[in-house]
Amino acid sequence: MAARKYSHSALKTAQRCLKQWSYKYIDRLEPKDRPKYFEEGSDLHELLEKLYAEGLGFDEYVDLYDQSKPEHQAILNRYSEFWEEEDKDWEVVFVEEDLEMKVGPYTVVFKPDLVIRLHGNLWVVDHKTVAEIPDETDPYNMSDFQHLLYLEGVRQHTGEMPAGFVFNYVRRKLPRQPELVKKGDRIADLRRMDTDYDTLHRFAEAHGQLSDPDVQEKLKILNLTPNRYFQRHYITANETAIDEAYWDTYMELQKLNESERTHTYPRHVLGGYAGSAACARCPYQPLCFSEMMGINTDVVALDYIERPKREK
Ligand code: SF4
Repeated sequence: MAARKYSHSALKTAQRCLKQWSYKYIDRLEPKDRPKYFEEGSDLHELLEKLYAEGLGFDEYVDLYDQSKPEHQAILNRYSEFWEEEDKDWEVVFVEEDLEMKVGPYTVVFKPDLVIRLHGNLWVVDHKTVAEIPDETDPYNMSDFQHLLYLEGVRQHTGEMPAGFVFNYVRRKLPRQPELVKKGDRIADLRRMDTDYDTLHRFAEAHGQLSDPDVQEKLKILNLTPNRYFQRHYITANETAIDEAYWDTYMELQKLNESERTHTYPRHVLGGYAGSAACARCPYQPLCFSEMMGINTDVVALDYIERPKREK
């Protein structure tokens, strides 16, 4: 079989499990009901894309984004306010552009969320809309395979090695808006309040509560701890890690190519390092396990629809 072109998301699926890849790209199945967090994530993601593609001012967002959920507009407004100063130094190079990279004889099509120039260096930005922002020192996040490969792709495209990548974390909820207790003489539920410094400070100032020692204590804590709603983790590039990612990808593509040639798509769950826990978030799990156990899949199959045809 001739060397093929694969989208980066197809490659990621194949790395996860070749059986999952065959459900998605050969049978073109997708679950009828996608989990809600997918919709929320993609809506916010689109807003971020528009923000950097169109370079809008703070007041213009609401009108332009009126197709989006109000809470997402509010998150984006808060986001742009939070990053207003830092974003002045971000020079947008390209936004969500389809790029191609060669990996051995294969071509991988990929689309970084955003590439910026900051103080003379290129950075690849990945918007991450999350329920909770992970710890910046978590080594798993620092070595995310996909991003190492993106650095190589951007290097091939621009001829310049990026300085690294930026995980641009946006939490899928707004800082909690404080409220006064019924008597109106103090702020309710301060201790457990999941909010950020600016939100509490603004409210306390507007309601004459800034001198309350409990408010001051809470503001001190919020000021000393990383913001729980918006964070950017800058990870610098490492040539060795990028090389490793490149060659691992090459081997994965060889495996995928061989699977396509022989029409055999082994289940990840049967691999020695995987186990059924690795399948917990797989959308094809009911179908896959039913087939594996020799159970009639007619009923389970009703939960899937055929995806529109796209490039593999
Ligand atoms: S359930 Fe597990 S083995 Fe089956 S397709 Fe999904 S990831 Fe692969």
